[in-house]
Amino acid sequence: MRIFDPHIHMTSRTTDDYRAMYDAGVRALVEPSFWLGQPRTAPASFFDYFDALLGWEPFRASQYGIAHHCALALNPKEANDPRCVPVLDALPRYLVKDSVVAVGEIGYDSMTPAEDIALATQLQLAADHGLPALVHTPHRDKLAGLHRTIDVIRESHLPPERVLLDHLNETTVKDATDSGCWAGFSIYPDTKMDEDRMVTILRTYGTEKIIVNSAADWGRSDPLKTRDVADAMLKAGFTEDDVDQVLWRNPVAFYGQSGRLQLDVDAPDPLHEGNSILRGGE
Ligand SMILES: [Zn+2]
Repeated sequence: MRIFDPHIHMTSRTTDDYRAMYDAGVRALVEPSFWLGQPRTAPASFFDYFDALLGWEPFRASQYGIAHHCALALNPKEANDPRCVPVLDALPRYLVKDSVVAVGEIGYDSMTPAEDIALATQLQLAADHGLPALVHTPHRDKLAGLHRTIDVIRESHLPPERVLLDHLNETTVKDATDSGCWAGFSIYPDTKMDEDRMVTILRTYGTEKIIVNSAADWGRSDPLKTRDVADAMLKAGFTEDDVDQVLWRNPVAFYGQSGRLQLDVDAPDPLHEGNSILRGGE
């Protein structure tokens, strides 16, 4: 079984997670940029983070046989902080990098005017750079947030087939799929979506343009939730080909629109800028 996790924050995970993910079948992933769990105070904080997503984190992933790509953006929460907004001016020089396969995650958090501007600006950046966009839907007021998100996408130059609407659930899946965008589901250990509810959605809506991720970060989350969905699908009677479509071919097709996916992990370099993941004496 081969698994592509299209949304996971490996910066906040350990090398044990990389090992367990490889053992579960994960061979590729996309790490979207997001906040730090505490406020950033300057654009320079983004630049170091973006550089880590472009350098150190792909190096770590390669040590475990996993291909690492990233999506870069000003995230919805920090779009409200005037100290962070200038990062929008610097994004174009990062979006041309080889392993950037999308703009993301963008979208709404509290649905403020500042978030309107950041979302529209970054959808345009995606269109300008020939990239897809990973669009987070808000955790509160889900349906209203989805409708407002879809309106902004319709007004943008980015076609819906280049947009992945993420963090969907039973209340938002229908309108999301009707919009022509890809539908993303984050599977969590105890809240929001779980693997059995996901199987029900797949039974109802089919396996086309549906994408499943763990969205694992430093909060309560599980980087093996993609594998749990695959196992739940098989148990429910889906075929191995169905599983391959949802867990591999769909995310490959979506992010492949960037023209930048590199799914083979070559023999990993022993060092990244003089540093390894080993500890002294090993
Ligand atoms: Zn995320």
